[in-house]
Amino acid sequence: MSSAVRSTTVKAASSVLKARRSSSPLLDDLPTRPHKRARKHKAEEVAEESQVTLVANEVSSLAIESQNTLVEETTTTKTVAKKPRKKTALVEPSPADFPTRPTCEWKIGAHISAAGGIQQAIPNAAKIGADSFALFLKNQRQWASKPLEPSSITAFKARMATFGYDYGHILPHGSYLVNIGNPDKEKREKSYECFLDDLQRCEQLGIGLYNFHPGSTVGECTIEESITHVAESLNRAHEATSSVVTVVENMAGSGNVLGCNFDQLAQIIAQVRDKTRVGICLDTCHLFASGYDIRTREVYDETMNEFGRRVGFQYLRGLHLNDSKTPLNSKKDRHENIGIGHIGLRAFGFMMRDERLKGIPMVLETPLEEVWAKEIEVLQRIADTSIPEDELDFDAMRAEIEAEVKKYAKEPAKKEKKEKKEKPAGKGKGKGKKPKKDEDEESALSDDD
Ligand SMILES: [Zn+2]
Ligand SMILES: [Zn+2]
Repeated sequence: MSSAVRSTTVKAASSVLKARRSSSPLLDDLPTRPHKRARKHKAEEVAEESQVTLVANEVSSLAIESQNTLVEETTTTKTVAKKPRKKTALVEPSPADFPTRPTCEWKIGAHISAAGGIQQAIPNAAKIGADSFALFLKNQRQWASKPLEPSSITAFKARMATFGYDYGHILPHGSYLVNIGNPDKEKREKSYECFLDDLQRCEQLGIGLYNFHPGSTVGECTIEESITHVAESLNRAHEATSSVVTVVENMAGSGNVLGCNFDQLAQIIAQVRDKTRVGICLDTCHLFASGYDIRTREVYDETMNEFGRRVGFQYLRGLHLNDSKTPLNSKKDRHENIGIGHIGLRAFGFMMRDERLKGIPMVLETPLEEVWAKEIEVLQRIADTSIPEDELDFDAMRAEIEAEVKKYAKEPAKKEKKEKKEKPAGKGKGKGKKPKKDEDEESALSDDD
């Protein structure tokens, strides 16, 4: 988007900002989040490349389709014909033109785009009323990226201050390619380098938390051995950096993937020497998919108390808020909008009033970024403890989210057609030769964040 257009959009929208609770006018200028299947599909392709160089057309298509690609730092974006983009905004965004964020002790946000430079993440978060946010620090599907521009680092820090964000509420997400649990020493080393590079970026930006997927055995060693590789990589990374906390995400749970239950998370922590440098991020979709129920008060308490006993809330440094498209214990990682999936809004209601979850980033990774402002607003309303819990109308709030989803969802016919087209195993843009990757490896590489 050109700066002129952005500036006009901001001005035009400022008058309706206060009304953003019922609609999301500013979201029009966010890049489209790629459909889950499209992204997964892309990750398969990338993973099967030489792992060093991506062919130019793939990089280009990634730049077009992925809101999470740091366009500024991708060398081949010149070939992208769609909407030429200027490097810097002419007018520095002012918090006055963005929604006022209500005081809420549960820090609800989303995984937002840093396209156009890391500093863009901040207005993108402010636009949807996010109190916390996640972002990628480099192209999450490439092994190597250019270092952060000093001007981007300066701008990022300046905007953090002007927009009043707390560094404790920023939870960057790691690369999909990284597997520091890989038993193959050479591959693990490559992952480690990419991982360490991200941690160094965090420290350059003043960010204190970094979330990553623990990895996979790739079917070549035991879970225990792989966990030891993860912990050793973490120990090494902690020594090579000064302060950033490495935050392990729980996973949905198919065979070779690590971190699918609380015991495995605890095992990783147990082998990390500096316990102040390790934490856990619980993803609600993954939690549910891996067999932990949270749908009623009783099972929510059971699950959370078990987390407290086996891992400990002192390690809980972040949450990914996602509903699930698939049922309990499906072992599948399919994010759904809040309240619309198999988990349901009630469960999120328990979380928004759980004292143990206060003050840590709670990041949406749901489909349709146009819906995030509504999801955040509904969750903040639930978290407003001045309203008694029994006065909350969960059905009505769910309907509000559903209406937004319907408004922004692609035409179902089109979508179905697309999914059908993408179904054939490992089919990549005109390259039908690739075999289907095994399910576990696939989820380790292209899990939905
Ligand atoms: Zn996921
Ligand atoms: Zn997640």
